[in-house]
Amino acid sequence: MHELSIVMSIIDLAEEQVRTHGAQKVDRIDLEIGTLAGIEMDALDFSWEAAVRETVLDGAERHVEIIAGRGRCVECGLEFEAADLFTACPACQAPFTEILQGKELRVRSLVVS
Ligand SMILES: [Zn+2]
Repeated sequence: MHELSIVMSIIDLAEEQVRTHGAQKVDRIDLEIGTLAGIEMDALDFSWEAAVRETVLDGAERHVEIIAGRGRCVECGLEFEAADLFTACPACQAPFTEILQGKELRVRSLVVS
């Protein structure tokens, strides 16, 4: 599962941070996930529960900020909210959109102890 490999890479990053800071575990983790990142939140939650057990993220408080998709039309320059990667421009219907935000998948911050 795609989401499981994402969780595994978050665990790797968290373990590295805990080691770097000479800490024991993560108390809190803040994630940013874009609506265009192709992440199923249910699948992510399911993978998270299973994968973090016995790791530094076991019991960590998790916060997720959802970043809404935004695109800019390459023809007329209009910026608009994009529900998916193939949303046509609402003004001129041009199918080519530059994605400005919404593909994020990152760890914004970690609190270790
Ligand atoms: Zn346009």
